[in-house]
Amino acid sequence: MISYDRNNIFAKILRGEAPCTKVYEDEHVLAFNDINPKAPVHVLVIPKGEYVSIVDFTEKATAEAIAAFWRAVTRIADQLGVGAGFRVVSNHGPNGGQLVFHFHVHITGRR
Ligand code: 5GP
Repeated sequence: MISYDRNNIFAKILRGEAPCTKVYEDEHVLAFNDINPKAPVHVLVIPKGEYVSIVDFTEKATAEAIAAFWRAVTRIADQLGVGAGFRVVSNHGPNGGQLVFHFHVHITGRR
């Protein structure tokens, strides 16, 4: 697996070194609008810990962090007004189309 690079763009966003349009934040996660939206609602949700992908997160994060992450995802979908119907996608690895190697999920939907 690719090792975690602290200079990836989402790490910079977490440190406040790169801008984002924040839609939600708590002690475990940050969510912000995708810079290149593929749907009327397109938000990225990332954990605050350093995990390369969904596989790394699932293997290494605590049960508390994993539960907090997924609870935040559904809460954010609701907050965005798409709670009745949305998609959650996570790309793992270059062959899975992953471009940014800090674990994230895409929430997409239509208001
Ligand atoms: P991946 O293919 O890794 O799952 O998707 C990475 C996503 O991050 C893409 O949808 C891309 O548009 C988004 N993205 C890349 N760089 C930035 C950035 O600097 N800011 C924001 N908000 N989104 C980004």
